[in-house]
Amino acid sequence: MTPLGKRIAGLIEALGPISVSEYMALCLSDPDYGYYTTRQPFGRNGDFTTAPEISQMFGELVGVWLAAAWQALGRPADAMVVEIGPGRGTLMKDIARTVARIAPALRASASFHLVETSPRLRDVQATTLADSGSFAWHADIVELPDRPLFIVGNELFDALPVHQYVRTAKGWRERVVGLDDDDTLRFYAGAGSTELSLLPRDAETAPEGAVVEISPARAALMHKIADRIAARSGAGLFIDYGYAKPAVGDTLQALLKHAYDDPLAHPGEADLTAHVDFAALAQAARQTGLDAHLLTQGEFLLGMGLLERAGQLGAAADEAARERLSREVERLAGPQAMGNLFKVLAVLPAGGRVEPFPG
Ligand code: SAH
Repeated sequence: MTPLGKRIAGLIEALGPISVSEYMALCLSDPDYGYYTTRQPFGRNGDFTTAPEISQMFGELVGVWLAAAWQALGRPADAMVVEIGPGRGTLMKDIARTVARIAPALRASASFHLVETSPRLRDVQATTLADSGSFAWHADIVELPDRPLFIVGNELFDALPVHQYVRTAKGWRERVVGLDDDDTLRFYAGAGSTELSLLPRDAETAPEGAVVEISPARAALMHKIADRIAARSGAGLFIDYGYAKPAVGDTLQALLKHAYDDPLAHPGEADLTAHVDFAALAQAARQTGLDAHLLTQGEFLLGMGLLERAGQLGAAADEAARERLSREVERLAGPQAMGNLFKVLAVLPAGGRVEPFPG
């Protein structure tokens, strides 16, 4: 068992089973052994590859969108450009370069910020961004100044914990992590029953054994972001893998060295995520009075001009580079690759319109 696994087993022995949400939070963010606290998750030697690490074109088109949003909302003079959950900092590097090129007034007038919980990843980001201008780091969104907020988050929400509920013969029970007779971590249906009204509508007809997921942590973060945009203007763009309509299903998954792993097998050493319920996130934003629009990543990137950008970069390059660019386009936007599974949620002040999202 991993060091964190031993600690969790001790905790369960002392206090009883813990919720899937607590388990996820410990695995990802434990200050001593958490995945994001201790690991270098990204890239070929890591556990997974994200869109900004696949191609510079991803961050460039996100930068173009943020600049367009800033223009559409009247070019506020004291804007902030913020990335939350920046990983290695590659996306922000591509955004900053693009904004400087296409909207120099925004690059010059706005302050640039990164919100990152992991001190170790903050250091990695500072290295990546060493030649890209000046940036301020914050551990929590509440530390940001009170100014118009242009914010992006890629694969952030999937890393925030979910609660799971499982349908048993006696109704819905919270799914918990406990210990079996060999002191190995195992999932159980917890003792407490759960109000059906809190669960997605499909849950009513779900068969025994079905699992549904709910994430108060994700809704709470979206509320914090949306409140700021509603009060001071701005825009948010959130990209993640997940589903557009509420759904029944266990999506908790662990990735270790680019392969799926048992979520209970390597606590703190494997990445642990659950698919994002975009309907729930959009609802959280709308509750604050904002508009929320959803596209697939393929629709978003093609709508932003991915093919044109690839053509531009390819025109000045050799045959090998052109082939690499077309592979990148396929990975980012192809329906069999990331194009359909990944979704892009835009949140805007009511009535705000920024292409390619319908108004
Ligand atoms: N956006 C990056 C990394 C995605 S991994 C990319 O696309 O490559 C998730 C990132 O979110 C990590 O940097 C992790 O440390 C950070 N993170 C997790 N929970 C967070 C929170 N509550 N607030 C800010 N950052 C968080």
